[in-house]
Amino acid sequence: MIYEVDSLGFYGTYGGAFIPELLQKNVSELQDNYKKIIQSETFQKSFHQLLRDYVGRPSPLYYAKRLSEKYRTHIYLKREDLNHTGSHKINNTIGQILLAKHLGKTRIIAETGAGQHGVATATVAALAGLECVVYMGEKDIERQAPNVSRMKMLGATVKAATSGSKTLKDATNEAIRDWINHPHDTYYIIGSVVGPHPYPDMVAQFQSVISEEMTMQLAAQTGRAYPDRIIACIGGGSNAAGAYYYFLDNKAVELISVEAGGLGIDSGHSAATSILGTDGVIHASLTKLMQDKDGQIIEPYSISAGLDYPGIGPLHAHLISSGRTKVLTANDDEAIAAGYELTRLEGIIPALESAHALAALPKIDFKPDEITVVNLSGRGDKDLATYLNHLKKYQ
Ligand SMILES: *Cc1c(COP(=O)(O)O)cnc(C)c1O
Repeated sequence: MIYEVDSLGFYGTYGGAFIPELLQKNVSELQDNYKKIIQSETFQKSFHQLLRDYVGRPSPLYYAKRLSEKYRTHIYLKREDLNHTGSHKINNTIGQILLAKHLGKTRIIAETGAGQHGVATATVAALAGLECVVYMGEKDIERQAPNVSRMKMLGATVKAATSGSKTLKDATNEAIRDWINHPHDTYYIIGSVVGPHPYPDMVAQFQSVISEEMTMQLAAQTGRAYPDRIIACIGGGSNAAGAYYYFLDNKAVELISVEAGGLGIDSGHSAATSILGTDGVIHASLTKLMQDKDGQIIEPYSISAGLDYPGIGPLHAHLISSGRTKVLTANDDEAIAAGYELTRLEGIIPALESAHALAALPKIDFKPDEITVVNLSGRGDKDLATYLNHLKKYQ
């Protein structure tokens, strides 16, 4: 594969593992062992069995007939919204909990912003019978109460990060501090294709089941194992990495990444990292991030909590800078409109994150015989209150 990570964890000039000395041993242990473990027959067997019987995979590839008619082309939806816990995030946490078990770890930690990754982690920790601590910004704990309740019901301890802006980056700092203090028994489950090597590659491999299934489903439904185009939203980039994975080397497949424009990329309230970002280190990897002249992180903004992240994974920084992927942005109002459009045309309420991917449709010049797949990363139940604030416009 052209876009494979190198032995030091770099995709081109992006990636690596910029970690404190105290974490060196933990991270080296992962770097040295992850490929061998993940690729072993026993691991693959347990992973795929859980994906089938617990997560409910394969997720359907659904031909969206009315949406296709509207855009005069062929649009398929990869239904990650139908997974257990409601999004693609469970694919990754299932993989990492099996790895933690294999490494003999007994305690799980995670960071979460909106709480989606926290819930997916608390879920698999319960499944594996392991202690689980989830770090979450104090502000996010207030804003995302239902997910905090879910994590507690699942038996996890939710710890508030009270420093800085009291959001995701502060929760990440707390999780890393915890990891440093518990190097022997604790496994850190990171929720996207971010963090020090080997996390970006590992998470991309776990999520790659999305595109692996797509090849078979497309072959069966359209007679060709690849589409003309794939559209996915990008927060850290894990659902996009999974949806692109098996098509990265196939230049016939156009890859479109949709970032959250927030109130507009020039408004000062945006999460369009690849457009507004510059090179720097965040969460221990070198990538593109939103920072000021002094290297201080600029708080991102998006109506969708899952896209509200100040960096992007190093794989995406590389795919974008090398021209392999094309970036579009969707502002808050465009995402809301796209969420209503899918709901009214197909009877599917998408997560606000996924609605950003759908909001790219009006911006693309489709040919009638082309096949486009939109990765529907999650379901919209968690976003109903936000959608309903705009109901008047759609009555
Ligand atoms: C977390 C989340 C995202 C954003 O994360 P990625 O790592 O970029 O995929 C997108 N969609 C949903 C439904 C999410 O929960």
